[in-house]
Amino acid sequence: MGIKQQETIAKSNAGHFSPSGLRRGALFFVILFCLGHGAETLSASWWDDSSNLAKQRLQMINGQLKNRGITDPKILRAMSTVPRHLFVPDHLRQQAYRDGPLPIGHGQTISQPYIVAYMTEILQINPQHKVLEIGTGSGYQAAVLAELSDQVYTMEIIPELAASAGKRLKETGYTKVTVRQGDGYHGWPEAAPFDAIMVTAAAEFIPPPLLQQLKAGGRMIIPVGSPFYVQHLMLVEKKGGNITTHSLIPVRFVPFRRSQ
Ligand code: SAH
Repeated sequence: MGIKQQETIAKSNAGHFSPSGLRRGALFFVILFCLGHGAETLSASWWDDSSNLAKQRLQMINGQLKNRGITDPKILRAMSTVPRHLFVPDHLRQQAYRDGPLPIGHGQTISQPYIVAYMTEILQINPQHKVLEIGTGSGYQAAVLAELSDQVYTMEIIPELAASAGKRLKETGYTKVTVRQGDGYHGWPEAAPFDAIMVTAAAEFIPPPLLQQLKAGGRMIIPVGSPFYVQHLMLVEKKGGNITTHSLIPVRFVPFRRSQ
């Protein structure tokens, strides 16, 4: 009985300690395994994700830009450098490189990659140029411009978008871009004149202050037309005191707004 008891005690001790020790040990290893495995899965999915997005960006360069006649190596380099997926809302990241515009909130859109490349190419920007963009939106176009010049100024009329684009540009390393909230109709007189001006919202006419702030020899690209109908991208050049305009391609942009 005593022995049995002892055995029982021994067994129960064994039963009490060993399995739970084992359980704890097992738990410890399960946790370690999960942590390790979790870390692996995390880094693997991070890698899959970023390499998959990099692949999509390359496909965008070949399938959407080169195919349609974007040839300037500086533009192709800029477009293959800027991480467009970081300029769209999180849930649209996997669609960032598709051949079209995407919503960015507040009823606004980030332009189709081809249009971004086309408008940038037309401006013939060099590293010494001072560039003004009207319509910051997500900040993506400003980042592309910043790949070509260190002097990029961009204005956005919607305060929330101006704030989020400014933050995003800093986080993605485009620290030299200067963002201002305000009505771009008036341009940016303190920073003028500009070698290049890009407007990314459709205006019914070219705002005269922007014409004034364009340097002699400068180029402006702006969609002109009625807000919900046909618009054309116009190239505006200032040669000496003369302004010339060329209508390039039909486009569809969100309307140029005015502050009240
Ligand atoms: N270039 C942007 C997309 C532009 S969408 C990008 O890369 O994401 C057009 C933007 O122009 C919108 O964000 C809109 O709010 C802004 N906008 C419209 N009228 C404006 C004005 N008068 N001044 C400044 N921004 C304006």
